[in-house]
Amino acid sequence: MKMDHKTRFETKVIHSGYNPKQHFDSLSPPIYQTSTFTFSSIEQGAGRFAGQEDGYIYSRLANPTVSILEEKMANLEEGERALAFSSGMAAVSASIMSTTKANDHILCSKGVYGCTFGLLDMLKEKYSINYTFSTLQTKEEIIANIQDETTCIYIETPINPTMKLIDLQLVTSIAKEKGITVIVDNTFSTPYLQQPLSIGCDLVVHSATKYIGGHGDVVAGVIVGKEETVNEIRKSTQKDLGGILSPFDAWLLIRGLKTLAIRMDRHCDSAEQLADKLRFHPKIKAVYYPGQKQQSDYAIMQRQMKKGGGLISFEVKGTFEDTVKVVNRLQLIKIAVSLGDPESLIQHPASMTHAVVPKSVREEMDISDQLLRLSVGLEAWEDIWADLEQALNDIT
Ligand SMILES: *Cc1c(COP(=O)(O)O)cnc(C)c1O
Repeated sequence: MKMDHKTRFETKVIHSGYNPKQHFDSLSPPIYQTSTFTFSSIEQGAGRFAGQEDGYIYSRLANPTVSILEEKMANLEEGERALAFSSGMAAVSASIMSTTKANDHILCSKGVYGCTFGLLDMLKEKYSINYTFSTLQTKEEIIANIQDETTCIYIETPINPTMKLIDLQLVTSIAKEKGITVIVDNTFSTPYLQQPLSIGCDLVVHSATKYIGGHGDVVAGVIVGKEETVNEIRKSTQKDLGGILSPFDAWLLIRGLKTLAIRMDRHCDSAEQLADKLRFHPKIKAVYYPGQKQQSDYAIMQRQMKKGGGLISFEVKGTFEDTVKVVNRLQLIKIAVSLGDPESLIQHPASMTHAVVPKSVREEMDISDQLLRLSVGLEAWEDIWADLEQALNDIT
């Protein structure tokens, strides 16, 4: 089926990137479980290596099942081209390394995924690529933090795990003037809720492990952007560092994507209900959820997101020990990192995902010892609330 810009998202997640006619009319895409592809002659092999002839060569360079996923993701993010990786971090590191070299500078949103923080630290130590954290809230603040060496602005919005938002329009307008590449980690929002490339950002990265796969059974990553930029990443950081996705994992993601829109609606609607319930609970000190009218970022949410997303962070009113007690009392909600699964998952950033971040930096990022992050699952929200309530009521 031909997809154009009028085809709706809910249809594209199912049909785009795949034509059964090219695969023996198979409704579900085949898994091309092969490492290499055969050439009929030296000339044909040479032609493929030279890029003069279409066709596959070797699965680290491209694989037909993986290509279906890549085309679908490019379509959904309104980008020209996508690349799939063996993990979100493989995608994050490939995107950052392809846009920087020694002595360059990265301007980064204050608050990022814990391993992205670890990566920035490693790049600084080993390759002298510097970074600065900024809240990126005002034009003045953004400009003040841009250096002559800045080649990349790296953003998470909503920020993990504080759920603060960054105005993508504001950042890209400044970055464009200065020729700086803007990379957005769109893991929390997915293209269903937010499309940074349509706002003018240059690259989108995903941990496809989360909502894209949506079933907690695969670790994967994706990069989407302009043809030229993405091809550069394909030929350099992806091909030579080698963090490619397996055909079977690509197939799981293609299958997961088909229900992305309906899953996201349910995640978001339940999160809205739970955020409201939490707001009025006496044992809760603060709730951070961009979909709530009371939140300071609500206007930005309405501008750049369809809904508030499926993640809620909140602070327990009490000590660290009280926080531990609440989490350990939960029964339906599972204690686990990761997010975007059918199962509701809760984690404690200070001792789990952001434990690698020094406590002083954590505090600067507003990650307290009482902060919890809830990934609202697909269960009935009333049951999720009943579990939270019984656990919260247990502390004095
Ligand atoms: C999980 C996650 C990553 C890393 O992805 P992996 O698939 O675990 O490698 C990066 N960014 C965000 C926002 C994440 O949630």
